[in-house]
Amino acid sequence: MQREWFEKDYYQVLGVAKDASSKEILKAYRRLARQLHPDANPGDPSAEDRFKEVSAAYDVLGDETKRAEYDEARAAGPMGRPGGGQGGFSFNVGDMGGGAGGIGDLFGQMFGRRGQQGGAAGGAGPRRGADVRAELTVDFEDAVRGLTTTLYLTADAQCSTCHGNGAKPGTSPQVCGTCGGRGVVDDNQGLFSFSSPCPNCQGSGVVIPEPCPTCHGRGVELRQREVRTRIPAGVADGQTIRLKGRGSPGRNGGPAGDLLVDVHVAPHERFERRGKDLMTRVQISFPQAALGGTIEVPTIDGGHVTLRLPPGTQSGSRHRVRGRGIDNGRSSGDLIVTVDVTVPTEISDEQRSAIEALAAASMSGEVV
Ligand SMILES: [Zn+2]
Ligand SMILES: [Zn+2]
Repeated sequence: MQREWFEKDYYQVLGVAKDASSKEILKAYRRLARQLHPDANPGDPSAEDRFKEVSAAYDVLGDETKRAEYDEARAAGPMGRPGGGQGGFSFNVGDMGGGAGGIGDLFGQMFGRRGQQGGAAGGAGPRRGADVRAELTVDFEDAVRGLTTTLYLTADAQCSTCHGNGAKPGTSPQVCGTCGGRGVVDDNQGLFSFSSPCPNCQGSGVVIPEPCPTCHGRGVELRQREVRTRIPAGVADGQTIRLKGRGSPGRNGGPAGDLLVDVHVAPHERFERRGKDLMTRVQISFPQAALGGTIEVPTIDGGHVTLRLPPGTQSGSRHRVRGRGIDNGRSSGDLIVTVDVTVPTEISDEQRSAIEALAAASMSGEVV
C-alpha cells in the first residue's frame, strides 16, 4: 500500500466513475494519454506532469488486482471513509481545484495538490451532480417485452433564479479568504500531511456573501421532472438501470449525475422467471398422463404453444419448449412447463366404472 494511494483519487484523475468498467477506464486512459503525451505538448512541463499522473492512475486502475487493493485501501485507510461522502482529505480536494490557472475542467481535479495551485484565485471548480435514485414497478409482461415509460421525479434541478451559482442575482460568489480558493487547509498528522476541508467555505473554495433567495445558496432547487426512458426487454426484478447524465445537475459546469432506476417486476399469476427461462405449470388428467398426447400451453405473449407429452408422463415432470422464454434481443430462453396430474374430485358413474375396471386390471398383475 502506498501513500500516494491515499492522496490521489485515480478515478478523478482519469475522469471516470468509481464503478467504471475496465473498458471505460482503458478508453479514458487512451484519450488522456493521447492528449497529454509529451510529444504532443513539447516544452509544456504541466502536460508532462499530468501525463505522469494519468499513467500512474492507469497503472493501478487498469490492473484488476491493483485496483481492488486500491479501492480497499481507500475505503479502509487511515483517512478513508467507506462510501465516500463530502470532503475530508486531500484526495477530495480535486472536487474544487478546477479553474486554477485556467486549466481545463477535466484537469482541475489534479491541481488540488499543494504547490501546484500557484495561489491562483480559482474559485470553485466543476463539480459533478449527485446521482438520483428512482423506483419503477413494471408489469411482468412489460419487463419481458421492454417498454418506454415516463418517470416522474421530484429531484434537484439547477436553480432557475441564480442559474446554479447560489448567489443572489446581481452579486457573485467570492473566493474564500481563509483557504484562498483551495477549499482545504493543511493538517499535519505526524508522518503524513493531509488536508482537511476549509471550515470557512466547507471545502467549496468560495463564499457567497448574498445567497440566492430561492435556493439559499445551494444552487439547486427541488423541481418536478419527467424523464422518458426505455426499459430494455428482459429486465429482471431488482435490477438497476443507470441513465447517464439524468441525475442532479453539476455545478460550475460540472457534469450532471446519473439517474439510477431500481426496477421492480410485479409477479405474474401464470409465469415465473428463472434467468432467461420462463416457468409455468399446467394441469393434465390421468388419461393424458398415462396415454400421452398433445396439450396447448399458454405463452407470455398471449398465444399458445403445442407441447407433446410422451405416454407415462409423470406428475411434476418438466418439459422444455425451446426459444419461448425471455428474448432480450440477443438470445432467448426457454419455456419450462411443469405438468401436474390432477385427480378429479367428482366423477360420473361411467367414469367410476372405468376406474374400477382399471383398478381391477391393475390388481390382476397387468402392467399399468
Ligand atoms: Zn438559486
Ligand atoms: Zn475556504
